[in-house]
Amino acid sequence: MNSIFKYFSDIFRAVISLLKGMRVTAGYFFSPRQIVTQQYPENRKTLEMFDRYKGEVIMPHNDQNQHRCTGCAICETNCPNGSIEIIQAKVDMPDGKKKRIIDKHIYHLSMCTFCGLCIKSCPSNALAWGQEFEHAVFDRTKLTKILNQPGSSIIKDIAE
Ligand code: SF4
Ligand code: SF4
Repeated sequence: MNSIFKYFSDIFRAVISLLKGMRVTAGYFFSPRQIVTQQYPENRKTLEMFDRYKGEVIMPHNDQNQHRCTGCAICETNCPNGSIEIIQAKVDMPDGKKKRIIDKHIYHLSMCTFCGLCIKSCPSNALAWGQEFEHAVFDRTKLTKILNQPGSSIIKDIAE
């Protein structure tokens, strides 16, 4: 008798558990205004990712095409899988000394694991997460990017 009672009791609890799980789904089904899914790719032009989304590593530039990178190569050292290559250049200063600057900040998106160590370890706060998420390409070389823009320079306050 006990085993029959337990059998039906288990079925009853399973149905209750199922209904609890379906309650959220039913709520969205009967309340279209609460729909949280995105109509992608139709909404491609208006789609905004979350602030915390890690799309790719970027180097923000201001409206004068200036960035914060000093070319110190700490990000390259800290990247665990060699996704960053820093190519430095030297410039002559007015006092006759030579100063190191960034020539190319090369980022291999195809190798990046999005660990964020480069961003966290940069002493100049020169790197950030970008929101781009469509990275599918036919040519893998397109996933190698130069983060400092052509003709850009370092923000004066950081250079000093
Ligand atoms: S991004 Fe930051 S850590 Fe990397 S080279 Fe530039 S200043 Fe140094
Ligand atoms: S996020 Fe991680 S893997 Fe990607 S470039 Fe930065 S340190 Fe390297």
